[in-house]
Amino acid sequence: MKKNERANLHPQSMCPAFGGLRVLTRIEGARVCLVADQGCLYGLTFVSHFYAARRSILAPELMNVQISGGTMIDDVRAAIAQIAEDPAVTFIPVVSTCVAETAGIAEELLPKKAGNAIVQLVRLPAFQIKSHPEAKDVAVSTLLGRFADFGEPKREKSLLVVGEIFPVDAMAIGSVLQRIGVESVIVVPAANAEDYVEAGKTQACTILHPFYERTAALLEENGVRIVSGNPVGANASAQWIEQVGEALALDMETVHRVAAEEKEKAAEVIKKFNNLSGKVIVAGYEGNELPVVRLLLEAGLEVPYASTSIARTSLGEEDHQLLSMLGTEIRYRKYLEEDMQAVLDYEPDLVIGTTSLDSFAKEQGIPAIYYTNNISSRPVFFAAGAGTVLGMVAGLLGRKEVFRKMKEYFTTLP
Ligand code: SF4
Repeated sequence: MKKNERANLHPQSMCPAFGGLRVLTRIEGARVCLVADQGCLYGLTFVSHFYAARRSILAPELMNVQISGGTMIDDVRAAIAQIAEDPAVTFIPVVSTCVAETAGIAEELLPKKAGNAIVQLVRLPAFQIKSHPEAKDVAVSTLLGRFADFGEPKREKSLLVVGEIFPVDAMAIGSVLQRIGVESVIVVPAANAEDYVEAGKTQACTILHPFYERTAALLEENGVRIVSGNPVGANASAQWIEQVGEALALDMETVHRVAAEEKEKAAEVIKKFNNLSGKVIVAGYEGNELPVVRLLLEAGLEVPYASTSIARTSLGEEDHQLLSMLGTEIRYRKYLEEDMQAVLDYEPDLVIGTTSLDSFAKEQGIPAIYYTNNISSRPVFFAAGAGTVLGMVAGLLGRKEVFRKMKEYFTTLP
């Protein structure tokens, strides 16, 4: 390594198992049996209570003595039996994590049912599933594989929506789908296990986030048509509506009309921000960063660098091509050190990043906000989403001078 060159030491993602736990703990009647060592159990219980469903997570005691002593599978079975004593528990996801022995747990040695509960193994080792968004995909596809009723015929004009979205976005999507003639909608990840059963009967599926690759493949194998992309920005909103219309063979005259209306509404909102100028770096770890970059570019902002924790996927390929063509350097499976280097190289006016990157940017006197708290907790779809995101960015771009003065103040203190 050359002098002054940074080593890439810090991959940016929460523990992958967290993504799976977020999906699994939210299901009514589910109680997770976590097959992990004590350290993972401590951390995962904490983040799950903080960011997921505040449900108890149970685990067999797995110290070295059980893991290496050959009693692990008996201990797991005993923990499952104990969880199943509660008649209110209808689903026991058995989540296995990183330690080689727990990751390689033999599924055939686990019961399929215990008490009133269905038992299902979900493997989430970080050495195989590199980021928490991808673990959501593993959890959703495992649930669909176990529960979905993929029988034919499919329900006419029914759509499956895959992706965790902000409640206002769900309402906006619902209203547009109704206007184009969609008759029933199922959304996963869901709180109701029955939704995973019904998901298999839908005619088409819109995958809103590009990391649901296993889920898309499973659905496609079982005759569900896949629509990729999402309604972020004017052009993409219209395109998404048209694609859903085609996939469900809806009345295309109505579909074209609604698509044109939504495109115009979003374009008008974006036009209001046309006076915006500045350089923004987007560096989250949620896996849904590229559509946000697309919106910023559509509003005329410069985005020289964007990064994410997930791998490049075929579902996100259209965004990749478009953004690359418009000059954004895209980094997948990024490291903190790469993001920090981008801040130094591009000297942005605003960073929408991870907490550690934000601290670094602020030390340089650059305004920075946390992607997860500020983007994932706001609507982003259609005109309303464009207005909310661009309004927030406009406010922050105006604060560069404040940050510069703050840095100057602290660095010139005697
Ligand atoms: S060892 Fe694996 S499962 Fe445990 S906290 Fe780390 S990444 Fe997560």
